[in-house]
Amino acid sequence: MKLATKLIHAGVEPDPSTGAIMTPIYQTSTYVQEAPGKNKGYEYARSQNPTRKALEDALAIIENGKYGLSFSSGVAATDAVIKLLQPGDEVIAGNDLYGGTFRLFTKVFERFGIKFHFVNMSDAASIKSFINSNTKLIWVETPTNPLINIIDIEDVAALAKKHSILTCVDNTFASPFLQNPLDLGADIVLHSSTKYLGGHSDVINGGLALNDAELREKLYFIQKSCGAVPGPQDCFLVLRGLKTLHVRMERHCSNGEKVAHFLRSNSKIAKVYWCGFEDHPGYKVAKKQMRGFGGMLSFELKDNSEQEARRVLSSTKVFSLAESLGGVESLINHPASMTHASIPREQRIKNGLSDSLIRLSVGIEDVDDLIEDLKQAIG
Ligand SMILES: *Cc1c(COP(=O)(O)O)cnc(C)c1O
Repeated sequence: MKLATKLIHAGVEPDPSTGAIMTPIYQTSTYVQEAPGKNKGYEYARSQNPTRKALEDALAIIENGKYGLSFSSGVAATDAVIKLLQPGDEVIAGNDLYGGTFRLFTKVFERFGIKFHFVNMSDAASIKSFINSNTKLIWVETPTNPLINIIDIEDVAALAKKHSILTCVDNTFASPFLQNPLDLGADIVLHSSTKYLGGHSDVINGGLALNDAELREKLYFIQKSCGAVPGPQDCFLVLRGLKTLHVRMERHCSNGEKVAHFLRSNSKIAKVYWCGFEDHPGYKVAKKQMRGFGGMLSFELKDNSEQEARRVLSSTKVFSLAESLGGVESLINHPASMTHASIPREQRIKNGLSDSLIRLSVGIEDVDDLIEDLKQAIG
């Protein structure tokens, strides 16, 4: 079955009691048992909920995996993956990561004795020198946030496999419409479903998809033991969002492309970060592992003062100044003071994330209005 069909039908069966075509919001904390232990597979809603199950099944199917797990947020899903590890274990992660992931790794899990190495993963070979017998996980985000670098998932996963290391790919930016990391050898795919999967900026949710039954058992144990589970209403909203992911993504991609080219041709812009430019260093890999280039891009102004960036950020009328991404509405963001403020400035600058960088999540409005808006804001 093709993705567009899976997105609409995966995980969702007519409700057994009424035939409702859409999975109901099972707003319940517990389930009545006929006799102790004699039940329909549902006991307590931290462990199981039918609305959540529909979403988990859908997540698995759209990422070409066997198992899905849904969490109360993307960082809760990340938290569960890191809880597979033990004190003394080491993780290799990209140096251009979602700020909240970086904060969780360095401010929470380092205290529990897990060691993180943040490396430039654009060249898979550079990862090798960080591998030792304690390395248990490689954490990949691609395209990266906010610099839109491309990591070769197949190369990284092959290297990890050789050393019996797990690979987890944060697929939030690409979405399953553009890229399926499990098919490229990754062990776990992670989503902040808050973004493209939900797609309407109305829910916080996270998800995992994977193929290995033993790994699924471990993650399910963590999910129910630690309790970062989503409510059924949130699961419903993500399920509803999924049904239009393919049509939304087509528009995100075509609008993203037009906005990227407009910015590049604007005399006040110094640099545009978008992986669909043929001279982008990751273009070849992007072509190989993605089915399009998405609607996320960043740019720097020629006047690279933070003040000028702030002026542009406050001048758009269609683009809303806000954190987050992947919704139908276009957003503009200042990573240095917003999404990536939790990364120390020195490290941020070293990784190429300047004070004047502006990130766009290009929505699905009429692209002429988006370009007009940017034109007047850039001035
Ligand atoms: C937003 C985001 C997260 C965290 O997800 P939440 O749903 O906000 O907890 C993780 N990774 C990426 C790439 C994100 O954009």
